[in-house]
Amino acid sequence: MHEHSNVAAQHAMYPEDKLNQIIAVAPGVVFQFQVDAKGELSFPYASPRLFEGNGNNSVSAKNAKDVLKLIHPDDLDRVADSIEVSRHKALPWQCDFRVHHENQLKWVRGRANQARGSQGTILWNGMILDITDLKAAQLKLEESERQLRQAQQLASIGHWYAKIEADEVYWSDIVFKIFGLAQEHSYPSVELFRRHVHPEDLPQLLEHEERAKDSGTLDFEHRIIRPNGTIGWVHLIGRLNHLNGTFHGTIQDITERKHAERELREHATTDPLTKLYNRRFFLERSEGTIKLCQRLEKPVTVVMFDLDRFKVVNDTYGHATGDNVLKRIASTVKSMLRAEDVLGRIGGEEFAMTLPDTRLLQGVQVAEKLRQKIEQLEFDAPGKQDVFKLTCSFGVTQRENPQQSLDTLLALADEALYTAKNNGRNRVETKLQTKALR
Ligand code: GH3
Ligand code: MG
Ligand code: MG
Repeated sequence: MHEHSNVAAQHAMYPEDKLNQIIAVAPGVVFQFQVDAKGELSFPYASPRLFEGNGNNSVSAKNAKDVLKLIHPDDLDRVADSIEVSRHKALPWQCDFRVHHENQLKWVRGRANQARGSQGTILWNGMILDITDLKAAQLKLEESERQLRQAQQLASIGHWYAKIEADEVYWSDIVFKIFGLAQEHSYPSVELFRRHVHPEDLPQLLEHEERAKDSGTLDFEHRIIRPNGTIGWVHLIGRLNHLNGTFHGTIQDITERKHAERELREHATTDPLTKLYNRRFFLERSEGTIKLCQRLEKPVTVVMFDLDRFKVVNDTYGHATGDNVLKRIASTVKSMLRAEDVLGRIGGEEFAMTLPDTRLLQGVQVAEKLRQKIEQLEFDAPGKQDVFKLTCSFGVTQRENPQQSLDTLLALADEALYTAKNNGRNRVETKLQTKALR
């Protein structure tokens, strides 16, 4: 204790044991550190806990070198530098560093004010606080921020905030990247954002923004048009802070996802050669159309058609030319139907149509129009001088009562088609379950 008499003398109001009692409950440790004119280091005073290190190997307060040994070797230079800076510039000393304490590594923060002593001696009065938990939390926060930044970069998620009324807007780097804007030449604003929203999606976005002012949440997927003309998809998410009227949110580039979704959807519904509905989706859409007609008490007609002697085309001109014929016929038929008609390729060279609000005779007229159009088409084959022609046969039926399923209707249309083939091809035939024509 006698080693600490300096401080005790300075605090004559307090006897030393009283001072130590107070210090014992203070956070961290209190010290006085000194560099004398010869450059010798010492601790004229230090609260007991500073020297309670390393089990039985307690450190002598007299020997400042022993104390410095507690400092993590990697941090020693930094601590020494900070002391030098403080000494030469007469600034307060401050440094975060690691120490070995009771066989544990701890982060501490040292702070001290300088007081010039006698005969060139420099004194620091200061304290050291254990900031291990703080440092761990800080490192964890930095790590999670780093991970978040990396994840955002990978997922192409930008963040933003906007005070819409005041037009105060912040965008992170990725937002500029998503919009294809050069950060150094663009000043983020509500106007700049809206200018890049696809015009067809803008009204809905404004509606969502309006609603978000009440609900507090914004969640919308929309298209954007970049300055280079490319169209992208973004997912916009925002939360309103009602206290300050600021929206905070993220924006993610979901262009790739949207394209993949569209491809999947198309794959599931469309025949890749003709781009018409595939068999499965033709059946699904036709069921829907039939139900709708039933509810509205409208007639519905089903037509099937098949290319005549198509095998000959393949055999004469090759399969690729055959494929082109299928494509051309599909697009021709498609262009002659109404938007509400359902057209599909239900077999190799077999097609079907479900025509809502159409009676049998109107269905026959449609089929006849298509038949005539197709027989006039001229096809050419690569490497061959002559063009060739081709015909189709049609079978038509009308739904007569709610008991008739789509399967039944297709079977009836197929029977009529078979009759057309038997009767010489390039013709339209009908078949009903009952004989009555309506
Ligand atoms: P029919 O008038 O009786 O219908 O005679 P057809 O030759 O059209 O009928 P068939 O059923 O004997 O032959 C159908 C041909 O259609 C055989 C097959 O190679 C061809 N075909 C089916 N799908 C495709 C396709 O995707 N591409 C091509 N190029 N040919 C196909
Ligand atoms: Mg055929
Ligand atoms: Mg066939």
